[in-house]
Amino acid sequence: TVIASPAPVRTTCPYCGVGCGVIATPQPDGTVAVAGDPDHPANFGRLCSKGSALGETLSLDGRLLYPEIRGERASWDEALALVASVFKNTIAEHGPESVAIYGSGQLLTEDYYVANKLMKGFIGSANIDTNSRLCMASSVAGHKRAFGSDTVPGNYEDLEDADLVVLVGSNLSWCHPVIYQRIAAAKAERPNMRVVLIDPRRTMTADIADLHLGVRADGDAALFVGLLNSLVELGLTNPDYVAGHTTGFEAARLVAADWDISRVAEATGVAPGDIEAFYQLFAATPKVVTVFSQGVNQSASGTDKVNAIINCHLATGRIGRPGMGPFSITGQPNAMGGREVGGLANMLAAHMDFDDTTIDRVSRFWGSKAVATKPGLKAVDMFRAIADGRIKAVWIMATNPVDSLPEADAAREALRNCPFVVVSDMAAKTDTMAHAHVKLPAAGWGEKDGTVTNSERRISRQRPFLPLPGEVRPDWWIISQVAKRMGYSHGFAYFSPGQIFAEHVALSAFENEGSRDFDLSGLASADYATMAPVQWPVRPAGTKRMFADARYFTPDGKARFVTVQPPPPIVPAPGQFILNTGRVRDHWHTMTRTGKAARLSAHIAEPFVEINPADAEALSIRRTSLVRLESRHGSTLLRALVTDRQQRGNVFVPMHWTDQFASNARIDALVAGKVDPVSGQPALKMARVTLSPA
Ligand code: SF4
Repeated sequence: TVIASPAPVRTTCPYCGVGCGVIATPQPDGTVAVAGDPDHPANFGRLCSKGSALGETLSLDGRLLYPEIRGERASWDEALALVASVFKNTIAEHGPESVAIYGSGQLLTEDYYVANKLMKGFIGSANIDTNSRLCMASSVAGHKRAFGSDTVPGNYEDLEDADLVVLVGSNLSWCHPVIYQRIAAAKAERPNMRVVLIDPRRTMTADIADLHLGVRADGDAALFVGLLNSLVELGLTNPDYVAGHTTGFEAARLVAADWDISRVAEATGVAPGDIEAFYQLFAATPKVVTVFSQGVNQSASGTDKVNAIINCHLATGRIGRPGMGPFSITGQPNAMGGREVGGLANMLAAHMDFDDTTIDRVSRFWGSKAVATKPGLKAVDMFRAIADGRIKAVWIMATNPVDSLPEADAAREALRNCPFVVVSDMAAKTDTMAHAHVKLPAAGWGEKDGTVTNSERRISRQRPFLPLPGEVRPDWWIISQVAKRMGYSHGFAYFSPGQIFAEHVALSAFENEGSRDFDLSGLASADYATMAPVQWPVRPAGTKRMFADARYFTPDGKARFVTVQPPPPIVPAPGQFILNTGRVRDHWHTMTRTGKAARLSAHIAEPFVEINPADAEALSIRRTSLVRLESRHGSTLLRALVTDRQQRGNVFVPMHWTDQFASNARIDALVAGKVDPVSGQPALKMARVTLSPA
């Protein structure tokens, strides 16, 4: 049982992948004062608008406080018994592949660990995927192809130490504001530092950019393949590094040789002079960090884009050293923790895949003979399997796929027709919860106890400072209780998150001996209650930077160049527009938390569609007038925001608004379910729509 604390509590922000430290202090009047933790290495006391308003989001309005079965209040015993029996019976009748779990980057690592262990370790299916598939699966796949492991090489200090920061597909100022502030402060201190922004939109992040390259949607791969070619032509690669520590350079170089500046300009829509300026800046600046985010990941060629970026860092040996490296910045608070436990359908556990040795190792560690032997269904395919009846029972945890998946109307229809849907969440009403046969009230930020990992591999504690309201319970407890009722008592006798974390630590180190990147052996005797933020691997101390020794986790220890053939540029057909979706500054996901803080809604109060003035004029769309957006998957009505920050032929719509806030505002209902063939990540930024004045 969680006890409210009257004293200041060190915890971690529940929003973005920056992972800022927060000090929360419950007040005598029942409110909670929130401040940035000056000692946390992610933020050193800073908080953005969302983080600083956390205290205003803690009311119990709209909370799910009791279990429900088919809309009626039920006891925990009744609800848990029903979930366990339906899952068990479904598996008995149709096999383990007929059930699934769909999780979330909002789950704490301990919750994620137990969910992954239940599905892959005891049910024997890998049908557990997560909304992190929508966030950074392409970075995971790109890292694994290049490094042999899903490893982010650098850290936030590198962003301040770099002489050139290249931001690709990232509106850092709104989506990772504290990192933006750190870079802006470093640039103010060292005016010679340069920032290049590569983004189809001229977002607020352009305010600190010395150069903005407004690439066409999906033009990034061509830009970085051209950069590799330019580095070769200028003679500014690092032949010693390439020869000593990599393989595959020659093949990548040969493909890149076809990409001179004029071809890159044609593919990207960027002026040749601007491309040349970027290439020369990159070539002339040893200390360069390339930050990439959802504009790179959420694409049908996302993994190739990641590798095109990494190729340039490998070719110059700019990796594993201070102020250098490719840097994936994740969207969610614990997407990294989910990756670490193996909470993606194509991973088994603790950064391990599905080879025979690993399956045997994990089986022995978990004491189960039923461990899954092959990857499961990734998010988009999982919901297609629900739609066509292959999956007959699904458990959704802390996420809202009816709003966030592409072809969201089809996802809604799939759940509507699914024989058994369980949803565990804080919020009583979401577009997904509306289809739950069983609703399980889960603990939220301030009540939960566990760990999260941020974008620089730093594990931090989330600590409780509020009592559990109503009959709310932590996710790890709920999952363990279902597991026990399914007959797996011996694997789920958990009584605290600290005990689960200790098991996670032990699995990371089990038969590891430096052969895998994810190793927490140095935390084996750590005091969970007081554990300070630490970057993995921890053997025995934390590791600020990876690959300093140029040793990678491939069989030969060398990094791999990946040959990238840029896709044809995305050019809309006459009358069509490319729809880009993303975040606004002050809201988070589907607003179940940020929607409670009036001052956060004051920044942008309603959804909008951002249109270039010339396009608006051609379609007789006036400022603030209503516009109909349509695709073959759905349609919606939005207010026009006419701005030259948006390039012609493209529109932008925020992803936050749902049917809970505005009727028919679910923008992902318009997005096709096209995915990257390697990572399975959907192309959420490149849908095709038509526009007309309403
Ligand atoms: Fe929270 Fe991200 Fe803002 Fe930090 S930058 S306070 S982690 S939302």
